[in-house]
Amino acid sequence: MTSYDVAIVGGGPAGSSCAWRLRQAGHSVAIIDRKEFPRDKTCAGWVTPTVWRTLKVDPDEYGRERTLQPIRGFRTGIIGGPDLQTDYESTVSYGIRRCEFDDYLLRRCDADLLLGQPLRTMTRHGDHWLLNGTIKAGVLVGAGGHFCPVARELGARRTETSSVVTAQEVEFAADDRQLEECGVKATVPELYFCGDLAGYGWCFRKGRYLNVGLGRVNAGKLSQAVTEFVDDLRRRGTLAGNVPERFHGHAYQLYERVVPRLVDDGVMLVGDAAGMAYAQSGEGIRPAVESGLLAAQTLLELEHLQMPAATELMHYADRITERFGQPRERSATDWLPHALLQATARRLLRNRTFVRRVVIDDWFLHASQPALDLTSL
Ligand SMILES: Cc1cc2nc3c(=O)[nH]c(=O)nc-3n(C[C@H](O)[C@H](O)[C@H](O)COP(=O)(O)OP(=O)(O)OC[C@H]3O[C@@H](n4cnc5c(N)ncnc54)[C@H](O)[C@@H]3O)c2cc1C
Repeated sequence: MTSYDVAIVGGGPAGSSCAWRLRQAGHSVAIIDRKEFPRDKTCAGWVTPTVWRTLKVDPDEYGRERTLQPIRGFRTGIIGGPDLQTDYESTVSYGIRRCEFDDYLLRRCDADLLLGQPLRTMTRHGDHWLLNGTIKAGVLVGAGGHFCPVARELGARRTETSSVVTAQEVEFAADDRQLEECGVKATVPELYFCGDLAGYGWCFRKGRYLNVGLGRVNAGKLSQAVTEFVDDLRRRGTLAGNVPERFHGHAYQLYERVVPRLVDDGVMLVGDAAGMAYAQSGEGIRPAVESGLLAAQTLLELEHLQMPAATELMHYADRITERFGQPRERSATDWLPHALLQATARRLLRNRTFVRRVVIDDWFLHASQPALDLTSL
């Protein structure tokens, strides 16, 4: 039997960020993950610059031995329609490979890593949890992503009104010929919205790696949409040759329409386990990191870590609302007839100012939201 102050289920960005902060303050922390690391994660691998600042990671140092692709522009449009390019004078975002990024954050967080072990059982015993019969902890953090067993056990699962993205993605090392012939520039990823506006597809080059995928919210026909998207990328000259591997599927919940259940006695949920991804872009790494840090910060302010009551952990939920706002309800545009909405969107996506200010700066880069500063809490 090994005892910890905090046990975290899931070693993705949410879990490792939470552990990093707790370890800095001297707490004993275990991370349990069902996979051995490095492990892959279905993701485009796009990380906004504030994440690096928040986690105090120097991108140059990180990129010395790993793939790090600076982004200085975007090509956008509707699938099958015209596109336009928006350029920036400096780096506005980065591309990473999740097999490298998640492993880097996990190793650096200095927690005890219990890898290759799924969470099988979690039982409350007075002032502590017992996990898998052998791991004792005063607090349990659920960071196991969309299918987090802790969230499931708490009954904090999605409801019918929640917005769930289903997505397919493939990442592969392109050969010399493919790199020469493909039209996507490494510094300018391409994003194309579905005609029904239920999602978007991307083609992203990170060094030698190409990442292609498409996600849709609460909408069917995903495989068909992916096939049509790949055909469109070939027609545009963005993609050359065949995609050499099968697409991988995954799902995750957006932070909208449903107020997530974040705490219970002795438990907190962070990242995708809580359904924290940004609604407009589907970006989930930044909210995962920030929610992990906010959960840790809340624990650091408690007088004890032996099964704190849900009421003692509620400050975490307040901080999430302060940082991310209330989950968006149905907006005025949701009530517009769909044909009108689509026609308007098609027009707006050809407007340079709208695309730069709203689609990229606001929806995709969250340029006006400063990095999370834990010292100001
Ligand atoms: C196709 C696609 C593309 C995306 N692209 C982007 C992007 O470009 N940028 C971006 O910011 N976000 C993107 N996202 C969202 C992003 O991937 C997630 O929001 C993010 O990974 C959430 O981090 P997390 O730490 O909460 O969960 P995860 O990264 O999912 O980590 C959860 C961990 O829990 C472990 N786990 C699960 N079950 C168990 C269990 N039973 N026992 C023990 N361990 C368990 C898993 O092995 C995993 O390591 C994308 C998502 C998809 C599906």
